[in-house]
Amino acid sequence: MQLLGPIPEREFPEFHNLMRLKIARCLAPGECSESAIAAHSVQKSRYIKPLAENGHVLSVKLDATPREGLSIDMRSVGVNQATTFTGLCATHDDAIFAPIEKRDIDFTSPEQLFLLAYRCALSELHEQMESASRVQGAYSSRVRRGFDSGNEPSYAGMQATHRIVLAYEAYQYKCTLDAMLESRRFKAVRHQVLRVPTTIATVAGNAVYSVDDVDVGDSWLRMHLNVLPVSQRETVVVFSYLREASKKALRHLAPVLSTRDAGSRAKLSQFIVDGCGNTVFRPSFVHGWSAAKRTAVLEYFHDSVWAPQLDREVGDLGVFALDA
Ligand SMILES: [Zn+2]
Repeated sequence: MQLLGPIPEREFPEFHNLMRLKIARCLAPGECSESAIAAHSVQKSRYIKPLAENGHVLSVKLDATPREGLSIDMRSVGVNQATTFTGLCATHDDAIFAPIEKRDIDFTSPEQLFLLAYRCALSELHEQMESASRVQGAYSSRVRRGFDSGNEPSYAGMQATHRIVLAYEAYQYKCTLDAMLESRRFKAVRHQVLRVPTTIATVAGNAVYSVDDVDVGDSWLRMHLNVLPVSQRETVVVFSYLREASKKALRHLAPVLSTRDAGSRAKLSQFIVDGCGNTVFRPSFVHGWSAAKRTAVLEYFHDSVWAPQLDREVGDLGVFALDA
């Protein structure tokens, strides 16, 4: 699905370089000078492989070419690359996440649920940092080439500042979670664990998203989302939030918690597509969608990148293979 028209030939190389910009710093608590590895934000062998076909899953990706411009589509990605981010060194990835890496997750354990939520926050911070660097890089280039003065406010300058503020807020939030991790105050994060019976595993992913119109302290409500196919017959969806935000989080989640009917299941799919993040799908499941559903899902992904669309009435965005 095309988003923007052709990119001028002379501007494309720089744009392409910025899009490929990677930050590879370890974001574990404290200062770590080790370089980061490509860590999985969703555990590979337990939760991504069950969806894979011929070693690949599908994920929603933006792509840019000079001739086609900017487009969004479902693209095939190998299980070794799916949901990876370069925000942890090998030592810290292992040391911090061993309790949820080495065995099946116990969804009643405050420690394991905390670690699931914490890993989302690291991956989200990493994404925000890369995004801020890209936008800042694009702005610096405009100043260098004389399109912006660098001294007066401009749209591109404001965009760059905005991205840096978002990355900084994500960093502060991570520091709050770091303190909880270091003092083992795992119950400071609360969770809602939903179990969806399925006929086959179709979706996995995680994200941290903010609910901008709901304040918590001097920031806004942040929700962590994990979608984990624990078997072909069941996918576990975990929403996590700070304990002090419980009341507001539960109000936000009411449409998916209230009942176990088809309507709330449909809403749950909408929450998952809206949260976006690192969502991956079983290829044959997506290939079985009608053209209308595929377009609806891609449009929704695109529209919800900047602002949640949860109040919107939508058609079929179903991400689960449910029993009829
Ligand atoms: Zn480290």
